[in-house]
Amino acid sequence: MKAEIITVGTELLMGQVINTNSATIARELAKLSIPTYYQQTVGDNPERMFESIQLASSRSDLIILSGGLGPTTDDITKQVLAKFVQRELVEDEEAMDKIIRFHQQSHRPMSPNNRLQALAFEGETVFKNHNGLAIGGAVETDSTIFIVLPGPPSELKMMLEKEAIPYLKEKVSNEGTFVSRYLRFFGIGESRLVTDLEQLIEEQTNPTIAPYAGMYEVVLRLTANGDTKEECEQLLDELEEKILSVEREYFYGHGEYETLLSITSELLKNSGLSIASAESLTGGLFSSTLISVEGSSQYVLGSCVAYQESIKKNQLQVSQEILEKYGMVSAECAEAMAENVRTIFGSDLGISFTGIAGPSPMEGKEVGTVFVSLADGVETKTIELHLARNRNGNREYTVQYGLNELRKYLLKK
Ligand code: ATP
Ligand code: MG
Repeated sequence: MKAEIITVGTELLMGQVINTNSATIARELAKLSIPTYYQQTVGDNPERMFESIQLASSRSDLIILSGGLGPTTDDITKQVLAKFVQRELVEDEEAMDKIIRFHQQSHRPMSPNNRLQALAFEGETVFKNHNGLAIGGAVETDSTIFIVLPGPPSELKMMLEKEAIPYLKEKVSNEGTFVSRYLRFFGIGESRLVTDLEQLIEEQTNPTIAPYAGMYEVVLRLTANGDTKEECEQLLDELEEKILSVEREYFYGHGEYETLLSITSELLKNSGLSIASAESLTGGLFSSTLISVEGSSQYVLGSCVAYQESIKKNQLQVSQEILEKYGMVSAECAEAMAENVRTIFGSDLGISFTGIAGPSPMEGKEVGTVFVSLADGVETKTIELHLARNRNGNREYTVQYGLNELRKYLLKK
């Protein structure tokens, strides 16, 4: 089944409202392993909406429309679709009762156009609105399933979850069980990962492999199809092993919603170790990121934002010799910052960040040169990075590298 999403609303075309519904719908379809091949946005205009539906039905088997179910004159989605599929619209009794009750209870006069919200496609499936008044529904023709959903995101989400997804699950159930697994990678770009795994991705039909790039990471979604959940899991285990035999170095975790931050924070919490940071180019962003996670008071002691040389020298006691001989952006300075913040703050671990965020080079070093150092009192490990984003992109990416170094250290412990 190939899906197409049509979001309806002139406000979307004008950029007054950001189209979040398409993403919500597509994500839910992906979970059912229904691929979305196209997305369209069309204004509240009957001719153009008709053309959109026509185009979609020429190339997709499942067409989901959102928006334009309300009571006003620009809400015409059901009417246009009814014309396209040549079905009648009739008032749904239950929806009508709810609309009447709503107006009585809230002492609001009901206007005739409120009846439009209760319109259903004759003889077809009705989707209740658990968060509002306008009902949605599904219409089946010989070749296509059409689904209509409301525009307001809160109404759309509930109708998807409680009505449309169960309906679609039924439709795809004869295609067996689907199980998805997410593999998350850091420190490798999407193009490199996809090139490394090119052959595997091309040859793979079950499970399928879908890569997508996040802001600072790459995720692979593996989806297996089988008769039972166990059979799917088995297929996923085998494929995961093959992928990790190539990319284990960059793999950091599973889960659709996990992040480097959530995984590292969990490890840090379980380790019982405390941490302090010395931050030059990140300017406190590292500790702020750690502290954004609930429960961070168990392991974050504090941070020293040592931006200027005088602060590195006076507060973090980085020696004059290091500063003169190697400069502020150097492995030696990063090491001293990490080791000293650890002793000064009395933490188990000290981590430091120094580098050139940009846009101008410094100390004869290029923009994007960054040193991250992690000290535990026995050993100090420093990495050198050469980042190529803009100023704040470099700062944020550095924080992610810091989290990753910390994660790797904690795993080894
Ligand atoms: P209503 O009964 O509120 O009129 P409706 O089903 O007719 O609902 P629309 O009139 O198309 O839906 O949209 C109502 C509001 O829902 C819009 O003003 C907008 O704020 C929000 N909305 C609509 N479509 C989207 C979308 N694709 N993404 C995010 N928000 C949307
Ligand atoms: Mg409306």
